[in-house]
Amino acid sequence: MALEKYNEKRRFNQTPEPEGTLARETGRRFVVQKHHASQLHYDFRLEMDGVLKSWAVPKGPSLNSADKRLAMQVEDHPVSYFDFEGIIPEGNYGAGTVMVWDVGTWDPLGDADEMLSKGDLKFRLHGKKLNGEFVLAHMRARLPGSKGNEWLLIKKKDDAMEPGFNIDKLDYSALTDRKLAEIAGNKDAAEWESNRKAKAPVMKGAEWLFENKDKKAEKRKSSATKPTTRKAQPKKKSATIPKVTTKLKAITGTKRTNAVKKSAGKTRRSA
Ligand code: MN
Repeated sequence: MALEKYNEKRRFNQTPEPEGTLARETGRRFVVQKHHASQLHYDFRLEMDGVLKSWAVPKGPSLNSADKRLAMQVEDHPVSYFDFEGIIPEGNYGAGTVMVWDVGTWDPLGDADEMLSKGDLKFRLHGKKLNGEFVLAHMRARLPGSKGNEWLLIKKKDDAMEPGFNIDKLDYSALTDRKLAEIAGNKDAAEWESNRKAKAPVMKGAEWLFENKDKKAEKRKSSATKPTTRKAQPKKKSATIPKVTTKLKAITGTKRTNAVKKSAGKTRRSA
């Protein structure tokens, strides 16, 4: 797999994601992206052969060696995807919020290409959250309706294992320390709640993501921030929260689910 599939699925005038080109040199980095698309999942990517080999892990990786995490291999991603964090606008493939959940390097425990083609990829991670030995094992027993892209991601027993590992407690970006909701554009509302004297809406950093891309969200945002010019009233709090919730839903997609499911037949189940 080169990057044709990756490029076919995306319209680069509509998504902030990078266009796919093959890297000349390959390092040994890894990235895990927390991706709130139609369904929340984690994308596990290993830099290899000029691309990022990618698996979508619905429950996310675990440091508990008793967990066997289903990992669906998806299309290779360009190496430039490594630090992509932000919002894929509604209507685009994989629409939703992406967080760089973990980054680091990896060492193959053997010949990487050989282990990958055999479906038994053993490696050691050196990340901010994930460390130690893991295995990605291709599932040979095919369930009815299986596409043959099912693997299991399993933590090996070593010093880095954590029996009580709970991924939900680690909702912060390895790059920007933001929570997923903050990346989704919730941050201004949260800061406004805690500091009602703020003169102007905050969230300058993420503002551009909405401009031209999601006019409705922009509109909602400006109407939600208008009350800051008036004196603080308890009413505002209750008036703001539903708007933010609506916006978050618009981004992360309850309504979009059907459209995504429709197209899932010809593309992939997990974006
Ligand atoms: Mn994804």
